[in-house]
Amino acid sequence: MPIKWDMRKFFLLFILYFAVGCSQSEFEVVNMSSSDPDHIGEEPAGMPNDIPETLEILDTIATVNSADFSLSEQSYKLAHGPAQIWNGCDSNATVMGGYNSDSKCGKGYFHPIFAAHLNKHLFTCVERASLEANLPNPTRIFIRHLGTYNNRNGRQTSSLSMHAYARALDIAQFNLYDDSGNVTRISNEMKNYSGATATFYDTFRKCWKDSLLSSCRPGQKEFNGSIGHPKSALGGNSLHAGHIHLSFPFCAE
Ligand SMILES: [Zn+2]
Repeated sequence: MPIKWDMRKFFLLFILYFAVGCSQSEFEVVNMSSSDPDHIGEEPAGMPNDIPETLEILDTIATVNSADFSLSEQSYKLAHGPAQIWNGCDSNATVMGGYNSDSKCGKGYFHPIFAAHLNKHLFTCVERASLEANLPNPTRIFIRHLGTYNNRNGRQTSSLSMHAYARALDIAQFNLYDDSGNVTRISNEMKNYSGATATFYDTFRKCWKDSLLSSCRPGQKEFNGSIGHPKSALGGNSLHAGHIHLSFPFCAE
């Protein structure tokens, strides 16, 4: 009899294990790294070493009309200005995201002015790019990204990167979900730049650029609002062969 009871307990634990596992959402929650993998050699990769243990609250953000991103109501003090926390794991949001993963969602940090612009324009630009590339109309997206805030200089420069101001997001891939839940994955890697992927890539960048104030002129820092790879119609450089560096440049304020 004792052996039989032990087996029943084991069986119950077995059922419980799977019940808990299956009740979790589609996406696993992880703390997001703020480091850019192709920044290896200049600072530790994959470590959120710029985020203070305790963030100092600076301000409360006024409600924005469009809320595609799930953002904190407060802004917090980072090294070079304020930032809101993006919860890329909020399944009620139109835009979710995770650090270099399609399934592990996480946090990000955006300067409030960048956050507001992302909320207003990013998903619209994704819709426009999908239409132009003859892809299914997305109802929500998951961004595979390579970092947001990171207090560092731009690569091969001695000035601060837009990441240091929490005004940049490195997008490696868009996962577009239609209303049936089917996913279309759009890679931003140069090696995948062809056909519908190339059309999506350039339409998205052009749309984001057009969303910025016309006061942004060639020669001003990141006046396009993004940096891509050299094959792109909007130009770029080989440092961005694996992702679109999307930013909110100072000229756009
Ligand atoms: Zn970047």
